[in-house]
Amino acid sequence: MAVTKRVAIVGAGPAGFYTAQALLEAGVAVDLIERLPTPHGLVRSGVAPDHPKIKAVSRVFEKTMESENFRLFGNVDVGVDVTIDQLRANYDAVVLATGASVGKKLGIPGEDLVNSLSAADVVPWYNGHPDFTQLKVDLNVERAVVMGAGNVAMDVARILAVPIEELETTDIADYALDVLRTSTIKEVVLCARRGPENVAFTPPELRDLAKLEHVDVNVDPAAIAAARQRAEEAGEVPKDVRQNLDALEALAIAEKKNAPRTLTIKFFHTPTAVRGTSHVEAVDFTGEVDESIECGLFVSAIGYDGRIANDEGVIEPGFYCVGWAKRGPTGVIGTNKGDGQEVAAKVVDYLNSNETSSGKDLNELLPGHAVIDRAGWLQINDQEMKAGESSGRPRVKLTEWQALRSAGKI
Ligand code: NAP
Repeated sequence: MAVTKRVAIVGAGPAGFYTAQALLEAGVAVDLIERLPTPHGLVRSGVAPDHPKIKAVSRVFEKTMESENFRLFGNVDVGVDVTIDQLRANYDAVVLATGASVGKKLGIPGEDLVNSLSAADVVPWYNGHPDFTQLKVDLNVERAVVMGAGNVAMDVARILAVPIEELETTDIADYALDVLRTSTIKEVVLCARRGPENVAFTPPELRDLAKLEHVDVNVDPAAIAAARQRAEEAGEVPKDVRQNLDALEALAIAEKKNAPRTLTIKFFHTPTAVRGTSHVEAVDFTGEVDESIECGLFVSAIGYDGRIANDEGVIEPGFYCVGWAKRGPTGVIGTNKGDGQEVAAKVVDYLNSNETSSGKDLNELLPGHAVIDRAGWLQINDQEMKAGESSGRPRVKLTEWQALRSAGKI
């Protein structure tokens, strides 16, 4: 089919790729614009390094990039190198797939003390995102507290708790590996502000905790029994709640291994203050009981801000958003597939029912700009994979802007 319409998608993460795939299948040409020199978004800089299976989805994205009607414009910062208005004036439609990357704040005293960090910084730090390489993470502490009962909190807690040998074979950033190698952490405490029946963890992630060979996971069995009773008294227990309670109960009653590190999950712990003179020394909680937990590192993983005002993906006719930018920071990677397809269908309807006419090619809007296209990304990918081969890792990530840009030959 001859392609007559061209759409710009801003953001080369899962939401951008799934939307691109749906548009390409509808015969629309797609330019995918990404600020970083590398595509894949959270699959590269969000998914935990010890979860390689989740990253396998990047193969689907690579396939999408093979389409003759697809172009990647990496290393292009929309708002700096080209404006949204320019994109809107020159494409038939524009889709924002820019995610939600700002960590929500707790808004409690002491939150800005040294070593009180947001998972929105810690996660891209250990994943080698070039904007986060300089983050100071001090792991020469005995106890770390992670706030939040979602999968991000669990990822952070697990990365802090597992032995270095389990990370050395992953694609975790080299500099993070060096810091983790000298970690003196003995206990990670994961705190939920509500009960076990209200955690936001997904059951498979909770079940995976039981498989950790070198970490003892502590959960109070009485807390799970009480939660089950509350949930049953409230009516039919939803499947995911029942599965979470089962997984938590299994953790609670599992025989302990006398492992060098423990991961303790506490419920009804709402933080009221982070305390310390300069560095984090303790976190105060209120809830079923008031408790102060001494710790040298505090990470809050309570979600992200950044949703764009929209009506089911429509910002205005011809201008759309998908993924976390559309729905807020919820859902696993696969959630973006159906979501991207739905928004792509709206884009196609708009293209079919409106006289649109593409203007200048994006290359003309970026004179002299060093774009990293798909060929450039394949060079980066190749270099990282080769470095991984020689050290028994899936890849060794390039983490500095300049190194990424030179590997992409610009
Ligand atoms: P999330 O799933 O929304 O969890 C956020 C947690 O923070 C909730 O437990 C919430 O408790 C708590 N919270 C929010 N505000 C708080 C406050 N002021 N004080 C204390 N606690 C607060 O968010 P996320 O962990 O950032 O994950 C984002 C999305 O990515 C989720 O859909 C997640 O499943 C997905 N993800 C998936 C994977 C995976 O599949 N492996 C990995 C990482 C992330 P309340 O419920 O009480 O509000």
